[in-house]
Amino acid sequence: MPSQTLTVETEVAGSLAQEVAERSGQNLNACYQCRRCAAGCPVGDDTGVTPDRLIRMVVLGDRDAALNNLLVWKCVACYTCGTRCPNSIHTARITETLKQMIKEQHLEPMAPKVANFHSAFLASTSHFGRVNEMEFMAIYDFKTAVNELTKGGGLKAIIADLKNQMQLGQAMMKLKRFHISIDKIKGVAEVKRLYNKAMGK
Ligand code: SF4
Ligand code: SF4
Repeated sequence: MPSQTLTVETEVAGSLAQEVAERSGQNLNACYQCRRCAAGCPVGDDTGVTPDRLIRMVVLGDRDAALNNLLVWKCVACYTCGTRCPNSIHTARITETLKQMIKEQHLEPMAPKVANFHSAFLASTSHFGRVNEMEFMAIYDFKTAVNELTKGGGLKAIIADLKNQMQLGQAMMKLKRFHISIDKIKGVAEVKRLYNKAMGK
């Protein structure tokens, strides 16, 4: 993987690192760049950014690089990095924090469909305490269609997306993994409270 040059912005380094550390609950300053996390990350090669590099960007205050890289969107939250880390730093919590910051700042996500998937998942789980596939797909498809219309993909791209979604829905139905009925968990109020707290509401 090619090495990247990181820009050090000393005036903002502290504030970015502090914000991400506070919101993610991870002690970024404990990272001594041993790269044990990098060796196990399943998406590091694909995204061009490994967990150690992401942490370095944040600690050095390179806001632009930290908020514009594919690891933030393609991290699968497998927690391999955190279990390997001698300092128990869980990068999945850092990528989740950076996703929220990107949304709050209305920045263009590098992977719009993943961003839509993420928003649809959070919305659906906050309503029912678990994903309702019907609602999830409706939110995801609506957001993706709006993206296609505003970003020039057009009607053709929307139809292709819907076709894919319908095929996926049919396959899930065959496997009994697609629930049409509303199925709430018992502690949905608690989930909503946690969701609102995480969203700063
Ligand atoms: S394993 Fe932990 S200490 Fe080592 S580089 Fe990764 S985050 Fe930093
Ligand atoms: S949790 Fe994310 S950053 Fe960590 S190893 Fe898994 S995919 Fe990579």
